Amino acid sequence: MSRASWGLRHEPILAANAETGRDMTRHTAVGFVTLAALGGCSLPSMPSLPSLPMLSSAPKAICAGAGLTIDADFPAAGRHDCVIGPDGDVVVAVDHEPTLVEGINPSPWFAFRITSDAARQVSITLDYTDYNHRYAPFVSGDGRAWTALPAGSVTLNDRKTRATVTLNLPQGASWIAGQPLSPSDDNIAWTRNALNGRGFDETRYGDSLEGRPLVGFVGGGGIDAMVVLTRQHPPETSGQEAYRGFLDRLLSRNDDTAKVFRARHRIIIAPMPNPDGVDGGYWRLNAGGMDLNRDWMKLTQPETKALSAWIVKEVGGRKVVSMMDFHSTDKTVIYAPPLASPSPTIDFLPALKAKFDTTLNQPPEWSYAHNANSGNSKSWALETLKAPGITVELWDQIPTAEARALGAAAADALVEYFAK
Ligand SMILES: [Zn+2]
Repeated sequence: MSRASWGLRHEPILAANAETGRDMTRHTAVGFVTLAALGGCSLPSMPSLPSLPMLSSAPKAICAGAGLTIDADFPAAGRHDCVIGPDGDVVVAVDHEPTLVEGINPSPWFAFRITSDAARQVSITLDYTDYNHRYAPFVSGDGRAWTALPAGSVTLNDRKTRATVTLNLPQGASWIAGQPLSPSDDNIAWTRNALNGRGFDETRYGDSLEGRPLVGFVGGGGIDAMVVLTRQHPPETSGQEAYRGFLDRLLSRNDDTAKVFRARHRIIIAPMPNPDGVDGGYWRLNAGGMDLNRDWMKLTQPETKALSAWIVKEVGGRKVVSMMDFHSTDKTVIYAPPLASPSPTIDFLPALKAKFDTTLNQPPEWSYAHNANSGNSKSWALETLKAPGITVELWDQIPTAEARALGAAAADALVEYFAK
């Protein structure tokens, strides 16, 4: 984290409520923080880097003025429009993708680049229209290394539909996003690297609606099977961190128990089942306007059709000990089928819960339910594979190390329970 020219301060903001004309001036404490001082909040650099276009590729601006240019011309950028006032105040509209059915899960994702012709202070307001602010902003000087803005740096209007931050921009480009950027090729590359030299095969099990590759990996032994996936929902990168902690631990444990587990179980991995949604900067859906994790029953979309068929083919009739699907939401919680569910490995659930409870500082909540018609991967796993489908939800703002620790604990539980 070498750029010291970033900064932010809380300042009074003026926002006229269009309906009441009420003055919504806020007076907040003024605090000035440089990026260098935020080092404690920075994330560890990732082993694989997101691919982002260089500035020399002349990104297409969505608005410009007062020495500022804003663009969303990179993978996983949000779906934005914007306006810049004469004094340089910026308002960025945060919009969601087209949806087949009314309403969309409120995951108002934003990611854009702001290029300034000089170092300056700028006020940036995120305008969510009828949705509420959810993701605390991260900032970056290169689109790769990210710093979380401190809690309290965002000023919200009464309805929480507009969020304002004041930043000291350096000259040149700066990135602002709801989570550290992780376009579709990032988790595929991370997974490929993690599995390298461990006897896994990579396959393109299908194509997304927009023609992006649907990539899977298969390795391990051949008696029983397990399935792991993440990023059905585009912004849910804290879930992806838990997925990474899970795979890291599953593969790197070198004790005999882990070796027995890996020799016995076929390991089926889908790191990026919704690449169109991820690279399109979507909140929730695929390019067909569908929530993929509500489509596992009817299988109307190419992504769910291909993924479910590939899993069934790779399972090949083996007993599936568990299917874990990593997500993010406003708290860390495990969604599991009831303990009386018709699965030969349902008794793994109490072992998993005990592992979390005894090893994690903040063990997750649990919720047990099954609805055969819900269309999520968890229900599909129980109905189709007779396996406990487990939706692992990580808090949006969980520190990376804690997300990875939860994933690692899940891997330990799996290894220790099934290597018998
Ligand atoms: Zn999700």
